[in-house]
Amino acid sequence: MRRTKVAAILKDTEYGKEVNIKGWVRTRRGNKFVNFIALNDGSSIHNLQIVADVSKFDESLIKRITTGSAISVVGTLSESAGGGQKVEVQANTIEILGDCNADEYPLQPKKHSLEFLREIAHLRFRTNTFGAITRVRHAMIFAVHKFFSEKGFYNIHTPIITASDAEGAGEMFRVTTMDVNNIPKTEEGKVDYSQDFFGKSTNLTVSGQLEGELAALAMSEIYTFGPTFRAENSNTARHLAEFWMIEPEMAFYDLNDNMDLAEEFTKYLLNYALENCSEDLEFLSNRQKEEEKNKKDEDRSMELIEKLKFVVDNDYVRLTYSEAIDILMNSKPHKKGKFQYPITGFGSDLQAEHERYLVEKHFKKPVILTDYPMSIKAFYMKQSEDGKTVRAMDVLFPQIGEIIGGSQREEDYNKLLERMRALDLPEEEMYWYLDTRRFGSVPHSGFGLGFERLMLFVTGMGNIRDVIPFPRTPKNAEF
Ligand code: ATP
Ligand code: MN
Repeated sequence: MRRTKVAAILKDTEYGKEVNIKGWVRTRRGNKFVNFIALNDGSSIHNLQIVADVSKFDESLIKRITTGSAISVVGTLSESAGGGQKVEVQANTIEILGDCNADEYPLQPKKHSLEFLREIAHLRFRTNTFGAITRVRHAMIFAVHKFFSEKGFYNIHTPIITASDAEGAGEMFRVTTMDVNNIPKTEEGKVDYSQDFFGKSTNLTVSGQLEGELAALAMSEIYTFGPTFRAENSNTARHLAEFWMIEPEMAFYDLNDNMDLAEEFTKYLLNYALENCSEDLEFLSNRQKEEEKNKKDEDRSMELIEKLKFVVDNDYVRLTYSEAIDILMNSKPHKKGKFQYPITGFGSDLQAEHERYLVEKHFKKPVILTDYPMSIKAFYMKQSEDGKTVRAMDVLFPQIGEIIGGSQREEDYNKLLERMRALDLPEEEMYWYLDTRRFGSVPHSGFGLGFERLMLFVTGMGNIRDVIPFPRTPKNAEF
């Protein structure tokens, strides 16, 4: 007999037919006549109720049906008599696929803290919360590819190991096969990378952008969706050492086209979640309410589904960095000295606290900031006429702060070279990047969306460690 998944059974109304379900037991309760087993196989936030007439089964078999055990049930699909669910299955045969010793199993049928669940990340998929997050994460991955594919963008795999460290997006992880206890040295006493695997110093990539640009300047519109690595020692709830980034890169797009795409893309993803993940979002919404129930009203988040709809239905506010600085200089927290990093004027780097003030307190909407000072942005961003700013854009979301960073790219060979020299970047090593500006250069733009930042927003979770299966953070590479 073919197995049916729980999600499909829960929607089925062909009562009386025989079905086979396999899954993991969440709970078993009942009395000496009848037992109720809540079974979950990961396909739904809801469990399927299995009803077992105790007289039909060996007592020893029933005892082995404990929380965490895996079973296969053949039974009759029935309309449920009890409240809470529409259908249930009256068990005819039950087979134990895998026992689970209740005394040793860490996941008891009670509330566990998210911190505790991080320590048992190998088992946390079996909780409601991580089941929901895993399904939403999958839906978002799928929606990313669907969005771009329907627009005619090509997905490009950019290298994970790279010899270029010019991007400057963050501290890098070294990749080597050299014996760290016996590093080969040159005559001058420096590390001799010519003896390393690639014959030069290599790292894990912090971004696929530079290679993405090479593809865009032939394929017109491309995107990457891959892992990126940053040795961020910051230990915040918004930074991982290993995270997934989506980086579209488009020929013939100026900064406005770039902003339009970023807005359309993020709204598409949120809308996709609303349309395809409603049961999981409802669960996650209740989880967030429960978590925030002891907070003061003004500190509570907007209800999750309402929040997603609000973003989908409203235009993002677009303003320049300079306008944002004016707002911040006139803000209450600035005047009262409440910002941890004081704003001093044009040139100040915006921290999460400033971004969140603009989004959550001032505009109460997602914000796109443009035209940042050249001094605080990367070398490849297009220089403006004013000689002070670059055509950069950051998309800022409530609760998250920066969710997207992007820009129009400098297409002018001489200006790009001049900037690289000013920043002391190795122009000989970067010849391949410069070549695109020598051979048929065109205006082009792109951005990077941190996938886990998006996941934080969609799920309402507070810590980035809880929206990726196996988080990598300082002092933590377990599992
Ligand atoms: P932040 O200021 O928040 O550290 P950033 O300026 O370093 O971000 P970019 O280099 O522009 O970020 O990277 C593009 C996007 O990647 C960011 O907008 C963010 O969504 C995401 N991102 C950056 N660093 C991390 C990280 N350590 N963990 C998870 N996501 C990240
Ligand atoms: Mn950063």
